[in-house]
Amino acid sequence: MTSRPSIRSRAPKAGSAITHRVMVANYGDNLKPECLLRSALARERFSFRINRRPIPEVRCKADLVFTRARVCVFVDGCFWHGCQRHFSCPRSNSDWWLEKILATRSRDRRQTAQLRSRGWKVLRFWEHEVKNKPAYVVSAIANAVRSKRARSTSSKSEVAHPPLELPNPLHRAVHLEHHVFAEVHR
Ligand SMILES: [Zn+2]
Repeated sequence: MTSRPSIRSRAPKAGSAITHRVMVANYGDNLKPECLLRSALARERFSFRINRRPIPEVRCKADLVFTRARVCVFVDGCFWHGCQRHFSCPRSNSDWWLEKILATRSRDRRQTAQLRSRGWKVLRFWEHEVKNKPAYVVSAIANAVRSKRARSTSSKSEVAHPPLELPNPLHRAVHLEHHVFAEVHR
């Protein structure tokens, strides 16, 4: 992109108590659905690694990695990954937050594509899906692992986010919409 300073270097100062609260609250929430998934899958006698890089060449850690089946699972936090239903932008430093979330989504898509091109099945779920429909998520993962084991060649059944649309708070950021979101949508 441009030669602007990195998003991290432009992060709001810690002096913003609201920003800090948002970050802490959302981080805490992100952890819970993953635990739920792990125990449900362990009960079904699946074995998997937690919070690991599926392959060294792609710099990202998946929440669950089924090495033999080459299936990896990401649980995307509704806040950090900009879920359309639940993302609400903090009022202060909103431009910075929007840019950060859009960059995260762009990175998600890039990493997903990199893993898929190397023969991995990539499942991405929203945090709210894991919370609200855990049985659906568990069975989607179980089916993916079993079918990869059975050497199914179908690649059309991959679970992915629906097409990205502008969440409401993002409508305001017209300049971001053009420069950043266009890239995400590709
Ligand atoms: Zn959500």
